[in-house]
Amino acid sequence: MHTKSLSELAADLKSGAYSSVELTQYFLDRINRYNTALNAFITVTDESALSRAKAADEQIAAGSAGALTGIPLAYKDIFCTDGVRTSAGSKMLDNFIAPYNATVVEKLNQAGMPMLGKTNMDEFAMGSSNENSYYGVVKNPWDLARIPGGSSGGSAATVAARLSPVATGTDTGGSIRQPAAMTGITGIKPTYGRVSRFGMIAYASSLDQGGVFGTSAEDCALVLTAMSGFDEKDSTSAEHAVPDFSASLKDSLAGLKIGLPKEYFEEGLDAQVEKSIQEAIEAYRKMGAEIIEISLPNTPLAIPAYYVVAPAECSSNLSRLDGVRYGYRCENAKDLTDHYMRSRGEAFGVEVKRRIMVGTYALSAGYYDAYYLKAQQIRRLISEDFQKAFETVDVIMGPVAPNTAFKIGEKSDDPVGMYLSDIYTISVNLAGLPAMSLPVASVNNLPVGLQIIGNYFDEAKMLNIAHQYQQVSDHHQQIPTAFDVTRGGE
Ligand code: GLN
Repeated sequence: MHTKSLSELAADLKSGAYSSVELTQYFLDRINRYNTALNAFITVTDESALSRAKAADEQIAAGSAGALTGIPLAYKDIFCTDGVRTSAGSKMLDNFIAPYNATVVEKLNQAGMPMLGKTNMDEFAMGSSNENSYYGVVKNPWDLARIPGGSSGGSAATVAARLSPVATGTDTGGSIRQPAAMTGITGIKPTYGRVSRFGMIAYASSLDQGGVFGTSAEDCALVLTAMSGFDEKDSTSAEHAVPDFSASLKDSLAGLKIGLPKEYFEEGLDAQVEKSIQEAIEAYRKMGAEIIEISLPNTPLAIPAYYVVAPAECSSNLSRLDGVRYGYRCENAKDLTDHYMRSRGEAFGVEVKRRIMVGTYALSAGYYDAYYLKAQQIRRLISEDFQKAFETVDVIMGPVAPNTAFKIGEKSDDPVGMYLSDIYTISVNLAGLPAMSLPVASVNNLPVGLQIIGNYFDEAKMLNIAHQYQQVSDHHQQIPTAFDVTRGGE
């Protein structure tokens, strides 16, 4: 069952080959067997998963099933789930039981998808390696000594090892695309505003966007259709019609204009990763696409701008976690100041503290113009670069990350080095554009992801482009040996 696509699973459920309860139990068993090695889940919700699966079976029997009814999934532990711990990977929220569902959770519940559990992540989604989680590092299923990417590393590892058919994620600066690339799966971050942020614990509100991981573009398309749409509870949600993202998957790519930004192929990109990307582009040329070199000249400014804007917004968003309302509370506070300082000091991790300090500094009266305002101006220039490019090309392609998955601990003492690995992903968030990653190669048995960046609300086209590649390649079907009994795993 773990090798089947969502539409195959749905067909099997409808034909009665197995029930949703059996399917859900099958994945719970896989989690039980493999999660200790991966540390991909923070919470497993077996009981509620099975009771939802039972309800889905009744719906299927009544003939009122939709495309996803009865197919289980996992949620990044940043999506609020009613009655279930929602930790955001932090000691601060280790005791937080969400009193309501995020809109995404509500929508996927309505679609009939049982929740298997909540996945591990970098604390408050800050990180690129999943080493910043209070619950410990997540391992990459392709090599347990390596990181799975971050911040949605738990979701990515879960799908890569087939512990869940699909999983949700969030992407503020690359946190869906980069872990998808590092673990050899498909992940899409839609246009800012496409998916409601209501009930998604905020990191940097003007950059955060929810999305999905699957093993294929086809699977991502199905789930993205169900999770997208205007939400009056999110003031930045877009009033934009949601197409059926599955409808155009089979469209021909003849005449497609693909832009390759020259700045994405300069110094810093690993030679073997570059070669893999070029080979994938060549495959697109064979499918009838035209390849055009473009320039995104402000790319070098993206990291400095992002690492001002994101910390500034996080310092404001995280100020609500003060030990008074909810979350961690220190013991025996001497007075209110001591209460605030120790509650926050004891519960936040090093990276979160670093960013709160940077953000507070950047927003302080004397420095606002020099840092925050400047970063916002750069953000505008970066958006304009993309808009100029989209006058001549339909989509942009390039690498997701400069390297394949690195070793656990390799960059822990080098925050700036870690930030630099976000070079190809963060411009997209600054501009609010949709982008995705799909697996196109394996270098020393480690996956390489190709990034596709689209214009606003062009997710259908991007998914079509990714799907066409997956019709002529089998990278997306590769399962790490240790997690597949049919290939010699345990
Ligand atoms: N690595 C980036 C950061 O640490 C992006 C994280 C994300 O997208 N949530 O901020």
